[in-house]
Amino acid sequence: MPVRIIEDKCKGCTLCIGACPFGALEMVNRVAVMNENCTHCGACIDSCNFDAIIEEKIETEEKDLSAYKGVWVFAEQRQGELMPVAAELLGEGRKIANEIGVELSAVLLGNKVDGLAKDLIAYGADKVYVANDRLLETFTTDGYTKVMTEMINEYKPEIVLVGATHIGRDLAPRVAARVGTGLTADCTTLEVDAEDKKLLQTRPAFGGNIMATIICPNHRPQMSTVRPGVMEKAERNDSNTGEVINFNVSLDEEELRTKVLEIIKEAKGNVNIQEADFIVSGGRGVGTKDGFQLLEKLAKKLNGVVGASRAAVDQGWIDHDFQVGQTGKTVRPQIYIACGISGAIQHLAGMQDADYIIAINKNPDAPIFKVADYGIVGDLNDVIPNIIEALDNVDDITKAFAEAAATN
Ligand code: FAD
Repeated sequence: MPVRIIEDKCKGCTLCIGACPFGALEMVNRVAVMNENCTHCGACIDSCNFDAIIEEKIETEEKDLSAYKGVWVFAEQRQGELMPVAAELLGEGRKIANEIGVELSAVLLGNKVDGLAKDLIAYGADKVYVANDRLLETFTTDGYTKVMTEMINEYKPEIVLVGATHIGRDLAPRVAARVGTGLTADCTTLEVDAEDKKLLQTRPAFGGNIMATIICPNHRPQMSTVRPGVMEKAERNDSNTGEVINFNVSLDEEELRTKVLEIIKEAKGNVNIQEADFIVSGGRGVGTKDGFQLLEKLAKKLNGVVGASRAAVDQGWIDHDFQVGQTGKTVRPQIYIACGISGAIQHLAGMQDADYIIAINKNPDAPIFKVADYGIVGDLNDVIPNIIEALDNVDDITKAFAEAAATN
């Protein structure tokens, strides 16, 4: 709630200045004045003995919540290719839609992207709303926000799910503000309240130390972003049928404040740890940037990729693109080998859904062993070369792992 100073009542006592934790108040001509640091926390209100600081009530228009129906998934595409998170959200959206007893729809924005509608139907969408326009060819905050807002206002979905990709993180909060609703970012679990069918949106809070479940009781749609890799992908079924609805786009070039001149893909060896089946991840225990070469060697042997904890990324040993965890990526490989990683909750948040977790750590009490299917207590500099040597004698590594997994 916004906070306001009533100038006539302010006595210039300066008590509020000391009470503000953000340095958001200063005295100008013996009257307290708020600056841009104000977070509207309200601490100054309690400190004022003269009722000179008040909470300003905002009158909000009452919405008819019953007019909002259905679950929507923003189907992100880039250069005509669907992002994997679209199928993941359709998988989760299907469960939610079935529980509430409503339709699941996908929303597709782009230029000449009609062809993707059949893929979205195959992943379970009952309907696909398609907005095709030359000005939607590449993502722009202004263009996509305007069109998405208009679509929500016209069709009134009760739930909108967006992938927490760079695009989704830009788009979703802006759309939420435009349609006058809230947004829960980076959800890790979505459920439906059995009694009132509201969406229960769970996400880590306070540095990942607690999980907070957030509801949006008075506004619609209920909007969440979910990071790629968190939800399980919907199964593709090409015999699914669905309806395609073309949305009439009215967009002017002048409405877009940014122009995409060229798209240059970052040359990082095109490694996407979220799509890897084998991940060999290194933490502070790897010790140095060069230490990662040993992990690379093992990853190569397994046809996998290297990942990392935040500690290793913070040390500058590896790029943030490879970070696994709450502020990195969420991965679901078949096998995750954690080397010299202690197993902090923020790291576990990104890898605990791996099929098999193998931990190598010289501390037998390291928390990573609590989530590991297999634990090796030892120095990774001794253990990893031994594993590589052992793998030299295996012809088909994937088959060997599958056989080992089946016997355990
Ligand atoms: P450490 O905790 O220092 O553990 C190093 C481990 O290596 C120890 O267990 C040690 O016994 C072992 N070791 C040392 N030498 C060897 C050796 N030679 N051989 C074998 N084992 C050895 N962390 C993430 O990883 N991802 C995130 O996304 C993330 N997000 C965060 C978000 C927030 C808001 C906060 C507050 C923290 C976040 N963190 C994240 C940081 C997290 O809390 C931990 O600090 C971090 O995961 C620790 O990394 P680590 O396990 O590599 O290092």
